[in-house]
Amino acid sequence: MRIDAMAIDLETPARYLKGVGPRRAGILEGAHIHTAGDLLRYLPFRYEDRSRFLEIRSLRADQECVIQTTVLVAGGYTTSRQGTKIFEVLVRDGSGSMPVKFFNQQYLSKVFKRGQSVVFYGVPKFDRFSNSLSMLNPDFEILGEESDPTLHTGRIVPIYRRIEDMSSRVLRQIIFKLIQDLEPDLEDPLPGALRKRWKFPGLRDSFRQVHFPDSGGPEENAVLLAKLAQHQTPAFRRLIFEEFFLFQRGLQLIRRRRLAIAKNHHITINDRVRDRLKSLLPFHLTGAQKRVLKEIVDDLRATKPMSRLLQGDVGSGKTIVALLSAAVVIENGYQVCLMAPTELLAEQHYRTSTQVLEAAGYRVELLTSATKKREREALHARLKAGEVDLLVGTHALIQGTVEFRELALAIIDEQHRFGVLQRSRLMEKGSQPDTLVMTATPIPRSLALTVYGDLDVSVLDELPPGRQPVKTVIKAEQSRDEVYRVIRKHLEQDRQVYIVYPLVEESAGIDLKAATEMAEHLSLDVFPDFRVGLMHGRLKSKDKDELMAEFLAGSVRILVSTTVIEVGIDVPNASVMVIEHAERFGLSQLHQLRGRIGRGRDPGLCILLVDRVSSKEAYERLEIMRRTNDGFVIAEKDLEIRGPGQFAGTRQSGMPEFFIGNVLKDRRLLEMARREAEQYVAALDPSDPDSEREMARLAAEWKDRYGLFQIG
Ligand code: ADP
Ligand code: MG
Repeated sequence: MRIDAMAIDLETPARYLKGVGPRRAGILEGAHIHTAGDLLRYLPFRYEDRSRFLEIRSLRADQECVIQTTVLVAGGYTTSRQGTKIFEVLVRDGSGSMPVKFFNQQYLSKVFKRGQSVVFYGVPKFDRFSNSLSMLNPDFEILGEESDPTLHTGRIVPIYRRIEDMSSRVLRQIIFKLIQDLEPDLEDPLPGALRKRWKFPGLRDSFRQVHFPDSGGPEENAVLLAKLAQHQTPAFRRLIFEEFFLFQRGLQLIRRRRLAIAKNHHITINDRVRDRLKSLLPFHLTGAQKRVLKEIVDDLRATKPMSRLLQGDVGSGKTIVALLSAAVVIENGYQVCLMAPTELLAEQHYRTSTQVLEAAGYRVELLTSATKKREREALHARLKAGEVDLLVGTHALIQGTVEFRELALAIIDEQHRFGVLQRSRLMEKGSQPDTLVMTATPIPRSLALTVYGDLDVSVLDELPPGRQPVKTVIKAEQSRDEVYRVIRKHLEQDRQVYIVYPLVEESAGIDLKAATEMAEHLSLDVFPDFRVGLMHGRLKSKDKDELMAEFLAGSVRILVSTTVIEVGIDVPNASVMVIEHAERFGLSQLHQLRGRIGRGRDPGLCILLVDRVSSKEAYERLEIMRRTNDGFVIAEKDLEIRGPGQFAGTRQSGMPEFFIGNVLKDRRLLEMARREAEQYVAALDPSDPDSEREMARLAAEWKDRYGLFQIG
């Protein structure tokens, strides 16, 4: 077989590519590069403008440059005072000469030879000893004699991360040849109409332009380099769009197939239901709550199962929306469950639901891992007999033994704390139940579209009336006494206080002041006239519950706690929070914690006590907390600082990894892709067998690619 003559497409195995033998194919495999398409998605991590080199004579200190030189002397090693071995190369171009130095890279003595032509990329520094400029540890590339002059120089050149012993230069050569041999009419995964509408370049052209962009004059190149660095050229935008579009289309297809199955229960709204809801209302709903409730009720009445995400910042009032939705379903004769990530929150929900729903005579029960065996068995029986209307609980709800008579609505609070698997387990408790997942972790919209792309999103973007913003201050350890004085002032005005610690017990070597010791110290020495409680994960359920009830009732005035109170806890009279070692918490966590205060009529005060700010990043976090209360702003910053992969909970929720696209930087393209995918899927006719087959094929392809990632 003459492989040379064969046109290459994206599926061509990498080992058949020019310049890739079996050995290199093995190396590429190790980097998950199996096909020509994979290699084309191995993008340059930066570019160099080698269309025009700077002259050595014209270099300035501290200014990035690319120079083309000849090696005059490849010197030996000198050892500096700190014991660093310095390898020095003297190079020249037509304008002058300059030393280039490498630290601790002994192997270079075998690499550089007199007479070689070498391109250097780096930042020249002024060297006090030689009273001249030199480069330290620059990037370099030795230009071989045989090399195609139009490939490695004379243009904007792609620089790749080396893969084992395959250097940037070797990769460039292989990819260059690959693009030359690429089939001219590659099958384009983007629908033609869409490509035309957005004037996207073709696939082959896009690959060529991201690897070997057409360069122009020096000024054009400067602009182009900046765009390339931002992935903002038409070719990049097209590839990013493609990635997002294919992902979103898969999500939409799966969603559509799920929606094709009608649910078994049937919910109607009549005057009786309406009157019931009115009678349950503990307060006037905000406009946002009314709007969201309507969105949910419309879904409940529909024949397709609901999959809705209710997103609302801390304190926005999600619980009442959930409970009223539950009431609609219960009034129609079905069962509802409400799952929370912590026992503390489940217990709080149990209390609130009982309060709100009792007047209607609904039967509300609680199930957690603390529920005693005998009680649990009796509860299981009642549940199956349909004698429980609302079951509130923790993970205990999704155990195999829990069976409902007819579960029609599953609600998950603080969804980001649960994995995808847990959500689908809960859904299996009914047949096509409606699902409502709620989260206070404000996921930036761009991410919500990605992570929850198959869900409908409702947003509570209004706080209940009378809320005053929480004021946040940063205090150093030395100001502790002052902080105590401030706390005392608030206590004397009948308010309550949280003091939060990162850990329960002092762990060896870490200078944490244990919550336990602190609670004792506060109650004995600092605030002997106020009751202090200590809350942490290892308390018995009963004790937790009692303590929480006492704090809610106001008899305990200071609650020293670990982060077990982080999510969901609602004690409106507690308006002051001190976060100890605030520098150790992540942004989202700080925001969640702070969300426990500012829930009532009193203005909230959050004091971030800081021991020693260890990093610039930690300082940045605290500053952001001080400046804003807006969960969305905080989430975006969090995402910026930590990157999408690390973003709170998203990994757990199966955040997909994109090759090129970045859900934060490229969010406009992401939203565009989402709209296009929706339109594409809506236009498919499910009664047409061709299009049905196409849908099945695309959905399968998608599952293949994104594997486990699937919600619902
Ligand atoms: P989250 O969205 O953080 O779960 P909650 O549902 O716990 O917020 O509500 C926070 C507090 O606001 C609760 O004390 C709740 O009773 C109160 N609340 C919610 N909605 C309203 C409203 N429309 N008017 C007055 N208070 C409200
Ligand atoms: Mg809540």
